[in-house]
Amino acid sequence: MTTSPSRLLGLLRGQSIAHKVLSSPATNLGLAEGEPFPFLAIVGQEEMKLALLLAVINPAIGGVLLIGARGTAKTTAVRSLVDLLPLRRRSLCPNGCTEEILDEAGLDGICNECAQRIGYNEPLTVEDRVRIIELPLNAALGDVVGGINERLALEQRRLRLERGILAFADGNVLYIDEVNLLDDSVTDAILDAAAQGFYTVRRGPLNLKYRSQFVLIGSMNPEEGNLRPQIMDRFGLRAVVRGLTDPEMRYSAYEQSITYRYDPDGMSAHYASETLILAEELQAARSRLSGVTITSEARKVGLGIIQKLKIDSGRAEITLFESARAYAAADERLVVRREDIDIVALMALRLRQSKGMAIFLQNQEQYDQKLQSLLMSDSNTHSHSQDARRDS
Ligand SMILES: [Zn+2]
Repeated sequence: MTTSPSRLLGLLRGQSIAHKVLSSPATNLGLAEGEPFPFLAIVGQEEMKLALLLAVINPAIGGVLLIGARGTAKTTAVRSLVDLLPLRRRSLCPNGCTEEILDEAGLDGICNECAQRIGYNEPLTVEDRVRIIELPLNAALGDVVGGINERLALEQRRLRLERGILAFADGNVLYIDEVNLLDDSVTDAILDAAAQGFYTVRRGPLNLKYRSQFVLIGSMNPEEGNLRPQIMDRFGLRAVVRGLTDPEMRYSAYEQSITYRYDPDGMSAHYASETLILAEELQAARSRLSGVTITSEARKVGLGIIQKLKIDSGRAEITLFESARAYAAADERLVVRREDIDIVALMALRLRQSKGMAIFLQNQEQYDQKLQSLLMSDSNTHSHSQDARRDS
């Protein structure tokens, strides 16, 4: 097919942009913590960039896991999303009350404090850009789910629960670097919240429920340990991030990183207009998404692959078809074609087969067969074949 890609996909694949060398003199020598590295300045890594953009277009994909060695720009890419994330209404209340809930469920749907705010004609939400919340590497369970405010408890003898990282992640992107090195209890809490969209904290007499809906992005370096299969399953897309192989591209990447190091603001300004266009195109894709349908051919191809791979988890279909819908929306279409399935299938379906589960099921099948033949021979000896034949 030779149709030209949409503006969004054109920007994503615009090698001319990635190869552009900045020649303007650096004005801002070595000042730390300026603008994030521009998404469009990342050289190569098309699969990672596509996976991240699809996850931003459609949260139903279930987030992204970036798999690759150190120094392959995984964290840089995630942080660079910050300029591309949408605006949204953010609740001012720890319980996540919004005007929307008020409209749907009335005063019963919101908490007492918010009911008071409504009484004073105060808003329950503010307009805010979706943020990227980074889970600190050494995060403990208490940081993640929250806990008793110990200062208040000691100084004022008052018992109050503090919100944890999961509550702050609500409505945002939660990024977990090196997710395979995380403590099991922390990972479980995050995945439960990701699955349910909320979590509860119980401490003594206190029992609070927090809303926690977020796009989960994880990264891992497989050299440093594996991910438990049930955690792997929770991630939607799996992008493999390889080091660049083309020497020219490696040189471009080197130039980009040096330019950014000495003049982050200049670099950001250089990419500002294209970044803005990309952000607008992403917003357009998001609003197009709800109208995107899947052709029966695309559906058949997708289901066929999943069946041939013998994948058990139903998350395979969710990620495959939702990412194909996001891709169609990014390409300014309202129909998913089979080519879209081909493009997202690797990212959606790799690392979905659980070896342990396959071995378990195989053993179980053998055992079941043995048991069944024992039952058959047993019933044969009792009823001399007639009934048994009718049953089979
Ligand atoms: Zn409230």
